[in-house]
Amino acid sequence: MMTMTAPSGAPVRGIAACGAALALAAWLAPSGAIAQDKGTLNPQPLPPLAKPDDPATAAKELFARKAAPAPLQARTIGFYSKGCLAGAVALPINGPTWQVMRLSRNRNWGHPKLIEFLERLSAQALKTGWHGLLVGDISQPRGGPMLTGHASHQVGLDADIWLTPMPDRELTRKEREEISATMVVAEDRRDIDPQVWTPAHAAVIRTAAKDPEVARIFVNAAIKKALCRDAGNDRRWLGKVRPWWGHDYHFHVRINCPADSPDCAPQPPPEADDGCGKDLDYWFTEAVLHPKPSPVPTKPKPPLKMADLPAACRQVLLAP
Ligand SMILES: [Zn+2]
Repeated sequence: MMTMTAPSGAPVRGIAACGAALALAAWLAPSGAIAQDKGTLNPQPLPPLAKPDDPATAAKELFARKAAPAPLQARTIGFYSKGCLAGAVALPINGPTWQVMRLSRNRNWGHPKLIEFLERLSAQALKTGWHGLLVGDISQPRGGPMLTGHASHQVGLDADIWLTPMPDRELTRKEREEISATMVVAEDRRDIDPQVWTPAHAAVIRTAAKDPEVARIFVNAAIKKALCRDAGNDRRWLGKVRPWWGHDYHFHVRINCPADSPDCAPQPPPEADDGCGKDLDYWFTEAVLHPKPSPVPTKPKPPLKMADLPAACRQVLLAP
């Protein structure tokens, strides 16, 4: 088995836990998260915590209860899967070339550089035939770990983009909570579904990968396979596009640490290789396509506590 880097940034061996599936609203009872979980038109606030100051309290419980950003200068603190975000800005829920989905989750917050990138990508993608972005989860108002889904998305530098082009009209609130993104992977999971996949799907991912601010893109392995097949001689950008579990309906874009954030922990740059060879073959082995259930149940990792996050995240959490 090989070592690879998860969207969480942590190196993992072989078939480790499923990565960055989308999630239900922070407002809803935690549950298993899959890409197509619906939201709600009537999100309920979470009940207050009995002991918010207890060091044993999971940081996700604290960050999930912050409905507004920390009014501080914008900066990313920590690592993609272990950090938080000050001075977040929201991606407006409607733009000329994008719409935000699952509004009840209140996860359309990011570092200003990421919001700028999403607006830029949505405009550039239009020129390649991709009709506007439907944007899924970015980060919570103060970043940090989430009650559902996503090991990463903690520092306002990760965003999920649906593999469904934006329709020609403004979606209703109900549609944004309930419609599903498009499954682009074939049933046998060995390739994309040719009935669904289009050159514009490839173009929007390529456009994102070529942006100098972009560090990584995570997609289903079948999508990477299609990108490898069709890339021709222009292949440098492919190294940024990594296969990962849970990306059948959306792709996940991660940007580099912004210059204004000295406490942002970068991840190593992608290898020069296009990642279309042996690394990709691994994803189509029997062990990955049809994994055997583990004989012993795997114990979930204990949730991150405030003490596990950079110290500055306490100020972000406690800011008025
Ligand atoms: Zn993601």
